[in-house]
Amino acid sequence: KERVFSGMQPTGSLHLGNYLGAMVNWIEMQKTHECIYCVVDLHAITVWQDPKELKNAIRQVTAAYIASGLDPKKSILFNQSQVPEHAELAWVFNCVARLGWLNRMTQFKEKAGKDRENASVGLYAYPNLMAADILAYRATHVPVGEDQKQHLELARDIAQKFNNDFRDGIVEKGYADGIFFPPPDPVITGPATRVMSLRDGTKKMSKSEPSDMSRINLMDDADAIADKIKRAKTDMEPAPPSGLEELGARPEIDNLVGIYAALAGISKQAALDLLISTATEGPSIYTGLKRALTEVAVARLGPIRAEIIRLMNDPAEIDRILADGSKRARAIAGPIYAEVKDVVGFVRS
Ligand code: ATP
Ligand code: MG
Repeated sequence: KERVFSGMQPTGSLHLGNYLGAMVNWIEMQKTHECIYCVVDLHAITVWQDPKELKNAIRQVTAAYIASGLDPKKSILFNQSQVPEHAELAWVFNCVARLGWLNRMTQFKEKAGKDRENASVGLYAYPNLMAADILAYRATHVPVGEDQKQHLELARDIAQKFNNDFRDGIVEKGYADGIFFPPPDPVITGPATRVMSLRDGTKKMSKSEPSDMSRINLMDDADAIADKIKRAKTDMEPAPPSGLEELGARPEIDNLVGIYAALAGISKQAALDLLISTATEGPSIYTGLKRALTEVAVARLGPIRAEIIRLMNDPAEIDRILADGSKRARAIAGPIYAEVKDVVGFVRS
C-alpha cells in the first residue's frame, strides 16, 4: 500500500525553495495518495531556536501548508513532538545506523561548519530521526527537495539493516518476506528540485541562511519580492546565455530562469527565450526577466500570504488542527512501534 510522508522544519518562514521543491508535489500527491505531512519541530531544535519564535513558527508553517493547498481533513497534518513514536523509533535507529554512515552526511558538514565540536549531537543524529519519521508510518513515498536525497538513501539503508538485524522476529511476527520496513522511495521531481540563493548561485535557498535577501519567503509582500528580485545577483558577462548549455554554466542566471520557468509553468528553454528577447544592452540586461519574474512570483505568492495571515489570526484553530492530526498520526504509528518493541525484544504490557 502506498503512503506519503514528508515534513518541513519550523526554523523560520517557508520560502520559494520549500514551495517549488516540495510543497507543489505534496499538494499534487494529496489527490492520489494517503498523505501525512508533518511540522518537524524535533528537527528544528537540532540548532538553537528561541522558544517563543519556535512556537510561532510551528503555527506559521502549519498555516503555510494549509494556505498552499493542503487539506487537513483529507491529509494528516501535525507537529512531530506531539507523536512520541518519532523520538522513540529514532532511538532504536540510533542503535541500528552506523557512525560511518552518518559521517558521510553532507548536510551535517554544512550546518556544523568549522566548529564541529560545538554542533549538537541532535544535528549529527538528524538523519536517524528523519528515517524514524518516515518509517513510523511505513511510508513508501517521500516528496522532498534534491538536498534531502542523501538522507533518504540513509533511511533506506536503515530500513534494510533493521529488516536484516531482526529478521527472525520479523518473520515470526508474520512478515513472511522479512520486510518489516519497506525501503521508502524519494520523490524528487518537478520543475525546481533545487532552488538556489538569490545572493549566491552555488548555495541552496534556505530558511536558516542569515541574509533574508537570499530568499523569497511565502510571507514576503509584493514590495519585498520586487526588491529582492531586483537586487538578486546576476553576473558580469556582457550578454545573456545563448543556449541551455551556456545557461548551466552561469548559476545565478540559471537560477532566475529556472524559478521563472517553474512559476510560469513553461519550459526552461521558453524562459531562456524570454530572457534573450527582453535582454537590453548594458548593466540592466536582466531587467525584462526580473520584471516578468516579479510579476509571476507576486501573482502566485500573494494569495498564499494573505491566507497565512488570515489563518494566523486564529492560533487556537491551528492548534486544534495539529491536535487532531497528531491523534490520527498516533493511531498509525502507535501499533507499528508496538510491533517494533516486540521485534527488538522489549517487554511491553
Ligand atoms: P533549514 O535551513 O532550516 O534547513 P530549509 O530551507 O532547508 O531550512 P527544510 O525544512 O530543511 O528547509 O526542508 C523542507 C523541505 O524543503 C525539504 O523537502 C527540502 O528538501 C526542501 N527544500 C529546502 N530548500 C530547498 C531548495 N532551496 N530548493 C528545493 N527544495 C528545498
Ligand atoms: Mg534544510
